[in-house]
Order: sequence, then C-alpha cells, then structure tokens
Amino acid sequence: MNLLEKLQLLGPATCYEPAEEVGVGRLPQSPRAPADLSGCIHHAAMPGGKRIALLKTLLTSACERDCLYCPFRAGRDFRRATFAPDELARLFLQLHQRGIAEGIFLSSALAGSGVRTQDRLIATAEILRRQYGFRGYIHLKIMPGAEREQVAAAMALADRVSVNLEAPNDRRLARLAPHKVFTEELLQRLRWIGALRRRMPGRRPSATTQFVVGAAGESDLELLATTAFLYRQLGLARAYFSGFRPVPDTPLEDHPPTPPLREHRLYQASFLLRDYGFGVEELPFDPDGNLPLGEDPKLAWAREHLAQAPVEVNRADRYALLRVPGIGPKGARRLLAARRQGRLRDLSDLRKLGIAADQAAPFILLDGRRPARQLTLWPV
Ligand code: SF4
Repeated sequence: MNLLEKLQLLGPATCYEPAEEVGVGRLPQSPRAPADLSGCIHHAAMPGGKRIALLKTLLTSACERDCLYCPFRAGRDFRRATFAPDELARLFLQLHQRGIAEGIFLSSALAGSGVRTQDRLIATAEILRRQYGFRGYIHLKIMPGAEREQVAAAMALADRVSVNLEAPNDRRLARLAPHKVFTEELLQRLRWIGALRRRMPGRRPSATTQFVVGAAGESDLELLATTAFLYRQLGLARAYFSGFRPVPDTPLEDHPPTPPLREHRLYQASFLLRDYGFGVEELPFDPDGNLPLGEDPKLAWAREHLAQAPVEVNRADRYALLRVPGIGPKGARRLLAARRQGRLRDLSDLRKLGIAADQAAPFILLDGRRPARQLTLWPV
C-alpha cells in the first residue's frame, strides 16, 4: 500500500474524533483539499480563531483493544493501515510544501500498548519539528496509559494535546470500553497535563477531551458535571461531544444512534459553563438529568429567571449581561465599552453592537423600561 492509499484509509477514520471545530457544527472540508484527499484535510479553527487547512489522520487503525462501540476494535474485519512515523512526517511535509495542509491532528488506535503508540506519535512530531523544522500547528493525542514523561514530551512538541475520556466516569466507561480504566489510564493524563501546563513558561499547549454520547446510558448531567470539573480544575480548553453512531459488526451495532440535537445542546451548555459563568446546578435539567432537546439551555434558564426580573443593560455587570439570551462574551464586552460613551436607549443601539437584540428584548430593561418589541414577543 503506498502512502496516499494509507492516508485515504486513515484520514477519514478521524471522523469519529472531533477537533478544532468552530462552534457546534461538524468540521468542514478545507477548500484546499484535493479530490483524492476527501475527508483528510479540514477547514479548522485554531485556538486563537484563525482558520487553517488541517490534516487529520490516525497513525494506525490496527488496534489491540476491543472497545464495544469502536470501528477499529481488534478482531473486526476491515482494511487496516499503519504509517511509520517517518512515512507520515514525510507525507505531511509534502502536503505542507504544496500548500494543501498547514497543520496536523494526529491520533491513533492502540498498537502494542499505549506507551509504544505514544512513542510513535511523539516520534512523528519530533521528525516534523526537529528534522524538517516545521513550525506550524500540531495536535497530538495522548494515549491511554501513556507515561508522564511522554505526556511532557508531547506537550513540548504540540500546540494542543487531547485525551479521549469517552465517558464521564468509570461506571459509564465500563459500558463502552470494559478494558480501559477511567481514572488511572485516562483522567490521570489530563491531571498531568493540567499540572504541567501550570509549570510551563511561555507557550503552553491547550488541552481538550472527547466524550462519546448516548451509548453508555449516561445523562447530560453526568457529562456536564465532568466537563465543568475539567474546565475549572484542570484548565481544559474544550470538551467535544461525539454522538454515538452504531457501527456494523460491533457489540453495540443495534444500539440506536444519538440524535444530533443532543450533541448540540451539550455544546451549548458546555459553553455556558466555560464562557458564561454558569454552574452545572443552574442548567435546566429534567428529572432524568437531561437537557430539554426543544430549547436552548440559556433561553430555558432565562425564561425561568429573567422574564420577571429583567436585566438593566445600562447598569448590569458583565456576569449579569452574559445571562441574557442574545448577549455573548463579545457582545457583553462591546456593550460595556459603549456604556462608557453614553446610555443605551433602544434595541437599535444593541443591534449596532452586534447583539441579537430581538432575543435579548424579553429579558432586559433599557433605561428602566422594557423594550417595545418585548411585549409582542413574550407577554410577561
Ligand atoms: S482503544 Fe481506541 S481505537 Fe482501540 S478499540 Fe478502543 S476506542 Fe477504538
């Protein structure tokens, strides 16, 4: 099998691993991707917001483990491929020199233990950085069971590292991957990353994780409680939620797929935890611990808490403004700056700041008065 054929197998295989998406949508194909690299080169958002053409690939799909949901599980019959580190580094460099790929997301199945696989991921990044002098974006996956020194080595090479927790706790992980150990093999690596980041001078790689949603009977509350812990305690940049999709010839092939709307609501709620100052206990869970699918969680919260107690936008602090539907971190910043120039008197003043004024209207006061449009939208 030549290198291009390997990439055609191992690149699209990363569709199970979200990374560097903007907002809550799926990662689109890069406009630079040639037809024969469909599913390999993505139009990805970097941690600072810049968009680049990102090569996403596995190093190998030959896995020694047998996680119940996974297309790469040992014993499943499909065409597998493996890159040697120097092969993949060379191929990436060619794509980079031709302007097709500007950065790389590198993950892997577990071939011959987590430690051995991690060595090969690190070796690939080392060749790119040290032999080829590549200075662009590298996202490296940290394998279950990788050693602390390997985590540190990966962080020294990468702009972003990630650990797939897969489930929110050990009980749920046992239903997806009975041979993985939640705390010792997975969570501990994120703890190391958090501790190493705090000690790193200058540039520090960001860290993310991924959950498989809907195959282990977990609730949204379980997922978001773990997410809140990761954001607050370990400084995680982002949690990704990957809705379960059944794969033929796996033990979970008859399990129903997760509705995309559940993924969407989890992302919305996780942004409320990360960027809006919400606590998990404030999110609008139903008695089973799940978010209502039919309503944006911020809107649901606001209808319960702000409809009768609207926020005066000329006086509220940033924290209170962020509670208002239609006002995000950017809008709140602009609004606070605009207030220094004068009072905000109607919805058109908010629109000029890029705020979704019609969404905000039912929940705000402008100079002590409810905006005129509110009465027609939400009689309260
Ligand atoms: S270790 Fe990873 S690649 Fe291997 S079966 Fe489990 S989830 Fe799949």
